[in-house]
Amino acid sequence: MTRPDLPPTQLFIDGSWTAGAGEPLVVENPTDGTRLATLHTADASDVARAVTSARRAFESGPWARMSGADRGRLIARLADLVESNAERLATLEALDVGKPYRDALAVDIALAAETFRHMAGWADKIHGSVVPVPDHMGRSRLSYTERIPLGVVGAITPWNAPTMITSWKLAPAFAAGCTVVLKPAEHAPLATQLLAELAAEAGFPAGVLNVVNGPGPVTGAALITHPDVDKLSFTGSPHTGRVIGRAAAETFTKVTLELGGKSPQIVFADADIDELAPVAALSLFANSGQTCAAGTRVLVHRSRVDEVAHALAGQAEAQRLGDPFDPRTTMGSLINAAQRDRVLSYIDAGRRGGASLVTGGSAPSRPGYFVEPTVFVGDNDMRIAREEIFGPVGTIIPFDDVDEAIRLANDTRYGLAAVIWSRDINAALAASRGLRVGAVWVNSFGAPDPRVPWGGMKASGIGRELGLSGVLANTEERLVNVVY
Ligand code: ADP
Ligand code: MG
Repeated sequence: MTRPDLPPTQLFIDGSWTAGAGEPLVVENPTDGTRLATLHTADASDVARAVTSARRAFESGPWARMSGADRGRLIARLADLVESNAERLATLEALDVGKPYRDALAVDIALAAETFRHMAGWADKIHGSVVPVPDHMGRSRLSYTERIPLGVVGAITPWNAPTMITSWKLAPAFAAGCTVVLKPAEHAPLATQLLAELAAEAGFPAGVLNVVNGPGPVTGAALITHPDVDKLSFTGSPHTGRVIGRAAAETFTKVTLELGGKSPQIVFADADIDELAPVAALSLFANSGQTCAAGTRVLVHRSRVDEVAHALAGQAEAQRLGDPFDPRTTMGSLINAAQRDRVLSYIDAGRRGGASLVTGGSAPSRPGYFVEPTVFVGDNDMRIAREEIFGPVGTIIPFDDVDEAIRLANDTRYGLAAVIWSRDINAALAASRGLRVGAVWVNSFGAPDPRVPWGGMKASGIGRELGLSGVLANTEERLVNVVY
């Protein structure tokens, strides 16, 4: 492909691109190991500058006085700009993450635009209520609540779907009237740099969005421990989620955490295997398996295990790994060498732990960090069924009856999503009530929609993003009592 049109490389603080004092960050193309760009990074003093700018914008800038309707106009303008720059954003996302350009355009960037568009509509519809209360000291009392913005939001994003997940954090925060300091994933920061440029072009006042790149333990750590951040919104691993939760506890900072999963896909005995196979495979292999909601535990009624194994093997073998910009490519690479090695070590653990390999299992011999789509048959106690792999690896686990299926589905520390495959809608709905997860799909699977809440139970996280819940998670409730 031709040389990409690269975005700015500096930090975005207080409405300007500015140098950072941290170590330079080399951004790599994971499909061939070449260097894409070198970015400035923020040290603790740069992060402090960004927080000061966000605080000022929150309290005294034009943003602080702007009506919800005008905030909505700005967010809608950003949605327009994401749409009109979709190809450029998708190119950066595909280069940076190693995912097929087609998917970046149709899923990541399209859903980011949709998220800004949807959340623009909430900006002037956030309101409290009037609560009937008894008289107070012999006089009438009017008690009403207001929904006020929380303040400065520190947002930390992962590398698997940077633009989409960044939109999940920015759009509801802006709708609520918050300002943001964003620490993008250091492994895939490029499209976010362009998004910051688009936010400036849309006309967001200085300080409403600040972007500080850098490593988690340096730049991220400075953001999560900064005392003037009102809320932290994080998507990533439970390990880092715990670090963030601890830091937030020190300063009573509000948190929203989305921490991944080990989601079940339950295939009942009556399921239509031909119909489910391509979607079940999408759930396993989309984004090379680097999705939080991936349905990596395929719980199958024992009578259908061989058919499901055969169908998923067919789906896996039909994948074309390769250049994200080749239209025939259906699967790209993993994010980096460390992630590829981690995934390969899980595959090894699956083999050594007694799982039987149905298909895949190796890294193809080509440059870049590719792993073949891999399917095992195993059981729910194996390491490959307990830990989030974040790669294209699924495990088929047999069950004998519905109770066992639900018990196995819930026998995990995670609780993000679940898929139920059955022709019997009553049975599917009854099963859905037993699942300790944030989101259930019956007879399909897809990316989160901005109109509906997204988040997990148990170790999959705290709180909800998207939908009205996601907007309100960026607000605080204030009560006013008027006695007259
Ligand atoms: P991974 O290890 O797969 O990169 P993480 O959950 O560690 O997943 O990373 C998700 C995001 O969290 C990234 O933006 C990363 O920089 C950030 N992060 C990692 N460690 C910390 C930390 N100690 N403090 C704040 N942010 C962190
Ligand atoms: Mg990269």
